[in-house]
Amino acid sequence: MSHPIRIPHSEAIQRLIDGNLRFVNGIRSAENLMAHTKIAELASKGQNPFAVVLTCSDSRSPAEIIFDQGLGDLFVVRVAGNVVAPSLLASIEFAVSNLGSSAIVVLGHSLCGAIQATIQHLQDPGNELPSPHLEELIGRIRPAVKAAEKTHNPQAVDFVHHATLANIERSRRLILEQSKIIRDHHDQGKVSIEGALLDIATGKVAFLGDT
Ligand SMILES: [Zn+2]
Repeated sequence: MSHPIRIPHSEAIQRLIDGNLRFVNGIRSAENLMAHTKIAELASKGQNPFAVVLTCSDSRSPAEIIFDQGLGDLFVVRVAGNVVAPSLLASIEFAVSNLGSSAIVVLGHSLCGAIQATIQHLQDPGNELPSPHLEELIGRIRPAVKAAEKTHNPQAVDFVHHATLANIERSRRLILEQSKIIRDHHDQGKVSIEGALLDIATGKVAFLGDT
């Protein structure tokens, strides 16, 4: 696909909002449920996902399901804690520059184990982490938790919520700061980069905007 269609980013976000509303209300789009009928066409004509979703690997936050989208609709990048790292950034860049995606959504969620582990480790740094890989991951979340500590009491029950929001915002900002390709698309109004928070208990997604 040499010139993929790029819909306005406001339309892309609206599709996600509408899809999440269907999901929350227990309704599924018949077209998306019949997505297998599009498989041959998608293979021959190429993919044109309208949005990129950077989300957590948590089994309760599958983007296609909670936004009620079908085959070929979303380019999903999943990693525990929805962090930004070079290979993940390259994946987002590919979708934006080659596939015509017009919205990038950083989707965090409540009850995130990666955020909770980072908070726990900061409060008890003597407790050695079980692997260097987890250390690397937590190292990417730690700055967001520390930022949240400046404005919220880390001992309060809702601190994990504020740390989750700070982590979403940090990933959003890092995408812009670290990728010239995405920054250029963003400056030209071709893509928006929005934070969003999924409430695991209800399935509802709150969009936090592109500021
Ligand atoms: Zn998570």
